[in-house]
Amino acid sequence: MAHYLNYIGGQWLNADTHIDVINPASGQLYATIASATINDADKAMAAARQCVNSGELNDIRPAMRAHWMLNAAQAIRDIADEGALELCRENGKSLQDAKDEFLESARYFEYYAGMADKLEGTSIPLGKDYIDFTQYVPMGVSVQIVPWNFPVSICARSLAPALAAGNAVVIKSPEISPVGMVYLIRALENCGFPKGSINLLCGKGSVIGNHLVEHAEVNQIVFTGSVPTGQHILKASAARATPSVMELGGKSAAIVLHDADLQNVVCSVRSGIFFNAGQVCSAMSRLLVHKSRYTEVKDAVVKMAESLLIGSGEEQADLTPVVSKAQQISVMAMIEQAKKEGAKIITGGYIPDMPGYFVAPTIIEATPEMTIAQEEVFGPVLVVMPFDTDTEAVAIANGTDFGLVAGVFGEGLNHVFNVAQQLRGGQVFVNEWFAGGIETPFGGVGLSGFGREKGQEAIYSYVQTRNIAIRLH
Ligand code: NAD
Repeated sequence: MAHYLNYIGGQWLNADTHIDVINPASGQLYATIASATINDADKAMAAARQCVNSGELNDIRPAMRAHWMLNAAQAIRDIADEGALELCRENGKSLQDAKDEFLESARYFEYYAGMADKLEGTSIPLGKDYIDFTQYVPMGVSVQIVPWNFPVSICARSLAPALAAGNAVVIKSPEISPVGMVYLIRALENCGFPKGSINLLCGKGSVIGNHLVEHAEVNQIVFTGSVPTGQHILKASAARATPSVMELGGKSAAIVLHDADLQNVVCSVRSGIFFNAGQVCSAMSRLLVHKSRYTEVKDAVVKMAESLLIGSGEEQADLTPVVSKAQQISVMAMIEQAKKEGAKIITGGYIPDMPGYFVAPTIIEATPEMTIAQEEVFGPVLVVMPFDTDTEAVAIANGTDFGLVAGVFGEGLNHVFNVAQQLRGGQVFVNEWFAGGIETPFGGVGLSGFGREKGQEAIYSYVQTRNIAIRLH
């Protein structure tokens, strides 16, 4: 059985204890990884600080970093097949989706390579006696805490702009599904990045993660994960007023207008809630349908859900397992709670009779205030409900504490645009859930967090503005 290590100051290091990695499609132990200690975390922070102080990453010509980033993009593509197989086995996701994570990661490096030498400041006119301009300077040491649902691509999403901007990074991988990230970091080893610029630790969030966010050397925190952990980190980081990016959960709604194309809606629901077994922060977890189309759309969506092939990621099934036993229990508990509150389970709501941690594709009719329609499930569970007017649909869509993404399906441009503009969220999809890409800024409002990842805008999360005001004699 493979055993994986932490990467600190350019070396792969073991630890006295390890974390078990379980294959969720079988429930069997699949690999182990060294569990980083507080001492390892201190070493990683010291290595990152030393890298910053040396200037080898931040004081060089930015085009050099761009060059390393392009090397990295190629190196990630080269190991994508090998890494994808491990990611598929440790995480449960389909082999193709696992490969897509690596390919997307390569794209992040390519995309932000193009920005490394374009962080241009502005000159500000103060009259003939002054020269005034702004500079974008790196934050310093960026601590990045990654969740298990897209561990490789989320890691690359924050790591690539941080490196492009000249920051050294200490990454904390999730306890569940840390192996794919090891492959990602291995790929970056010989691309030119100086020692200490990239460090990877696997360990308990409440111990190592907590230590990193409170560390005296941290200059920035990028957290992607659940709301409670994000809130905890914000409190911990308040002591040093550490700048943070918070990418948290969601309860995102799609609004189906009276003239929406049925097949298009069904296709978007399929990926929106069943992709990655619904373990997607921007999952379409609520479907609001105009009452004139409610039965037709609901029936079509239920038919699609019941036709999905449930199985392992290696079999390229349509619906793969959730990531762990704990996640399966949590999803089922929310379905049971929905029943208690009077929601109707139209389909699914059970654990298929197969080894591993599966949950059947589930569709629930609920009212907007029910727990199942308010809280993130993070599983293959869709809530459907009818609406009468646009005002009502917008009120329901915006009526949770979250605000990550939202969607509208319909034909009339004026109508669709009018509804889209009223939706609360960092991104609104029209006629295609998950439209957009790594080029489009992504992030939340409300409990979904703040700061933006992806797109050109994201790189400004990884720099601080310095103004230089010169008085001429
Ligand atoms: P989680 O909050 O349990 O864990 C996320 C990471 O935080 C893990 O690496 C964990 O070890 C670490 N952690 C836990 N306690 C910590 C502490 N006290 N201090 C520092 N770090 C700590 O989340 P999860 O279950 O891994 O991920 C699922 C959640 O992530 C969902 O809510 C999902 O919506 C959210 N998510 C958001 C985005 C986004 O971009 N907005 C993307 C993916 C996932």
